[in-house]
Amino acid sequence: MHTRTRFYARERDTLAPFASHAEASRGRRHAEAPHPLRTDFQRDRDRIIHSRAFRRLEYKTQVWVTGSDDHFRTRLTHTIEVAGIARTLARCLGLNEDLAEAIAFAHDLGHPPFGHCGERALNRLLEDHGGFDHNRQALKVVDELELKYPDFPGLNLTWEVRAGLVKHRSRDSTLDGRTLPPQPSLEAQVADLADDLTYMSHDLDDGICAGLLDATHLSGLELWRRAEQRGRRQCNRTSTSFQIRNLIDLLVDDAITTSEANIANAGVASADTPQTLDKPLVAFSPEIGRLGEQLQTFLFNQVYLHPAVDDDNQRAVRWMCELYHYLIENPGELDAAARDRVNIVGDRVAVADSIGLMTDRRAIEEYRRRILKDPESRCFGLSAGR
Ligand code: MG
Repeated sequence: MHTRTRFYARERDTLAPFASHAEASRGRRHAEAPHPLRTDFQRDRDRIIHSRAFRRLEYKTQVWVTGSDDHFRTRLTHTIEVAGIARTLARCLGLNEDLAEAIAFAHDLGHPPFGHCGERALNRLLEDHGGFDHNRQALKVVDELELKYPDFPGLNLTWEVRAGLVKHRSRDSTLDGRTLPPQPSLEAQVADLADDLTYMSHDLDDGICAGLLDATHLSGLELWRRAEQRGRRQCNRTSTSFQIRNLIDLLVDDAITTSEANIANAGVASADTPQTLDKPLVAFSPEIGRLGEQLQTFLFNQVYLHPAVDDDNQRAVRWMCELYHYLIENPGELDAAARDRVNIVGDRVAVADSIGLMTDRRAIEEYRRRILKDPESRCFGLSAGR
């Protein structure tokens, strides 16, 4: 049987000197006895997957409002793809796979309904109350909003997973009152790059699947042409799925080769040193980074802002904003946990947190039931509103 202590020994024997070790974790906010079979990072991964917030990702928008098509990514399938790629990158770089995977599984738990459109709307609504940011919200979900254990709120994850969720660091970024170093751990850097790599590839795939992108659009994309060349070396025929697979391979190869070289050149010999540097070591090469930015701009203009995507998101977000104002006026209609939080964080933040936890379909149902006063509201489709 693999006990926790054997996993510690395996990490000592197999991980690179700059990897994070479960045995050296700074621990949890609320002390708990260690598990006999699993390390704390393995346990965190399981806690995240067993959380309600994780299950709700199934009905949260990645790009298209959920339910638009059976084949488009949801926030859950996006997250699973990110975790898979994070594990590959971590394994190839000699990093702690369990930690990278746990951070990847948790990275989008703070997304409100209706993706980035929903996030921007909640941010505007909370303009004078601290704003709303899905990265910050992910930490709030795992620290405060997920209610699972009798003795403390949240999932009580390890410091390393929680610190990995703090993105876009500035000089004053803190966690539990401690100033954070300028960069996250290499495992968190892996989860972050895997997120970019994954969404660029699959949003392109879904854009093609939705019929928004044709051969003319794609032939203008340098990364697409390179993926095509890569594919031709293996097979004379091609298909969209094969092209996307070649694109992912190309990006993963570049990320591993570049990151390995960056790590070697920096001469880092501990898990802490990479965190003190002025930029991440896990990265694409400058050239692929530039082509990735070109792809992101392309996706923004050709997919995210396309009326076939944006109109549904905007309409649903208008309903969500009406629901927000309705709940501010009628706080008695909040659930018991959110009502308790009104006294602690104020009505605006408590209502935004409550809406942020909802899935797309739950937000639409709440809008129908509370604002349209439809007592039969169990139909979750976008056509359900006005
Ligand atoms: Mg993501």
